Amino acid sequence: MAQTDPLLMIPGPTNLPPQVREALGRPGFYHRGDRMAALLERCSDGLRHLMDTSGDALILTASGTGAMEAAITSLLSPGDPVLAIEGGKFGERLREIAVAYRADVTSYVVEPGHAADPGQVRDLLSKQRFTAVVTTYNETSTGVMHPVEQIAAATREAGALMICDCVSCLGGVPVRADEWGIDAVVAGSQKCLMLPPGLAFVGAGERAWEAAERASMPNYYLDLRRARASARKGQTPWTPATALIAALGAALDIIDAEGLEAVFARHAAMAEATRAAVTAAGLELFAQEGFRSPTVTAVHSPVDSSDLVRYLRERHGVLISGGQGELKGRIFRIGHMGTVHFEQIERTVEALADGLTNLSFGCDAAAMLDAARQAATDAGAEVN
Ligand code: PLP
Repeated sequence: MAQTDPLLMIPGPTNLPPQVREALGRPGFYHRGDRMAALLERCSDGLRHLMDTSGDALILTASGTGAMEAAITSLLSPGDPVLAIEGGKFGERLREIAVAYRADVTSYVVEPGHAADPGQVRDLLSKQRFTAVVTTYNETSTGVMHPVEQIAAATREAGALMICDCVSCLGGVPVRADEWGIDAVVAGSQKCLMLPPGLAFVGAGERAWEAAERASMPNYYLDLRRARASARKGQTPWTPATALIAALGAALDIIDAEGLEAVFARHAAMAEATRAAVTAAGLELFAQEGFRSPTVTAVHSPVDSSDLVRYLRERHGVLISGGQGELKGRIFRIGHMGTVHFEQIERTVEALADGLTNLSFGCDAAAMLDAARQAATDAGAEVN
């Protein structure tokens, strides 16, 4: 990346690797030809690998929200009792979509910064029959990873379907759809997959397809049944974002070349480095210990985080995010997903130290960098 390009350390969209940019710039091609069929096959194989599923992995031209809506409307019916786990903005969005399509939604609201308690989920599932549980895995607005494996187990025991939003973590952390019992995995292009926004993915297993046969929520463009029927012919039902799909092939090749386990380890190490740096500055992490995200770190901000975000962008060309909704101004969030290596963490920490100091929160840049370097090294990452 040229030094003059803004460094995207927001929790998506993320930085584009050169191979992805090259793929985006290739000549146009026919979306119903052999080339597209081969590309779709390669991409859905790659997505299945990331989701660890033998089910279908469908590619939609939409943002991540489109995949959330596709999963809900293709698998459920109006009036279905749905348990929505809400620990932040994206959990809320799942609930809002289910409500918009007239599901009978019960919310389990989790305090922001905390993880959902699988025991409480189990309890709720034992008191009432639910058709589905909808939850976020990586809650981007708070930097929390919910214990989805345990939630999925409780959901399966209760005979409900599990729809899980993995938009900001698929490709950055293990998602074991078949093993854990996630019936529908929802994801998007602009996070760990290193692509621009515009593609959304749904992984759907056998139980999801059985549910889809009964489902009667209205939909059309986002109907997963149509998407599956077309995928079987090497196509998509509607004109897809061809350039983005070509770029998806390139992104999956990059992941394969590094190795998925190595990609996960790098994300974990960059998260450790980020946490160590902010902790060395005397700041407190927002997410509950034990449930901190490997792809986004949320931090209690000692200054108005909107000012900090602006300072880093204007003075350093480093983009981080503030808080959303009631957390606006109170937290800042650093995304470390996709292409992020230690070099980018270093640049971000330097900018952050300068920003905090300039906004009258004194901190020691050298100590922050040392802590980051040590944490990354301890986690087995290469540091320059
Ligand atoms: N879910 C999560 C966890 C997200 O982080 C996002 C986007 O940031 C979405 C859903 C929505 O995706 P999109 O903005 O691509 O519609």
